[in-house]
Amino acid sequence: MPRVTRFYCASFFFCTAHAVAAEELRVLATTFPVYLFTRNVTRDCPNVRVDLLIPAQTGCPHEYTLTPQDLQKLAKARIIVRNGLGIDAFLHEYFARAAGNARVIDCSAGVKPLRANPHLFAGPKEAAMMVRNIAAGLSAQDADNANAYNAAARAYADRLLELNRRLAALGGLTRRKGVVLQHDALAYIADSAGLSVVAVIQEDEDTPPSAGRLVALTRRMQSEKPVLIISDLQYPDKPVRTLSRETGVPAVGLDTVAAGPADAPLDYYEAVMTVNCQTLETYFGQQ
Ligand SMILES: [Zn+2]
Repeated sequence: MPRVTRFYCASFFFCTAHAVAAEELRVLATTFPVYLFTRNVTRDCPNVRVDLLIPAQTGCPHEYTLTPQDLQKLAKARIIVRNGLGIDAFLHEYFARAAGNARVIDCSAGVKPLRANPHLFAGPKEAAMMVRNIAAGLSAQDADNANAYNAAARAYADRLLELNRRLAALGGLTRRKGVVLQHDALAYIADSAGLSVVAVIQEDEDTPPSAGRLVALTRRMQSEKPVLIISDLQYPDKPVRTLSRETGVPAVGLDTVAAGPADAPLDYYEAVMTVNCQTLETYFGQQ
């Protein structure tokens, strides 16, 4: 998509409002979901350019190390939008080393996480709060576009809350509420759907469970009888298949939108979360 950095109205020479070219405002989002949210908030502001810091396919960057290219992007940004809660802790390292002069918007400000779980973006209700934080942060730095940021954020947050209502309606479809999650990012979807988490398979973000842990999880599931195992589509599903086979508890896969295509359309988060709703509706509708 071509970036419009300057715009003039037809009566350029007489129009004082447009005689001064709008300066490009460079905004850098640390992670893929925050990038999607920021692009939606700025969608009607042609002088705002939003870039993504880490590659879109990275997923959870808890252990990410900044590359020289990343440092260049950070140096050019006027505003950095971050997830917060430790997911993009690499920014601390950057600010400790470089005298970054960008303003930072922390999307998690004022949002209460589930049990110190930093994956706020995976819940549509929490995502709506992040979107409002982005609009407020951008408006404080760029008053000219404040109306456009706030209007776009309101419309987007409303659609996210509609998805949350759809998840919430799932609670009425099943009497048994216990679920086992592959990764704790899924806890936000489970919470919105009124499900309760019996266990999380991956204790650690990037390490698959040991054989001993799978045995312990199998015993736990046999006693607590969860209704479903939910795998995270961004991780290999081998441990989920093993547990499902050992316990007879069915499994479905959901996408937390931690990662996605670099050229994701504006409605990517909504489209993925809609498929997540459909997957759960299909499963619980058959219960
Ligand atoms: Zn994570």
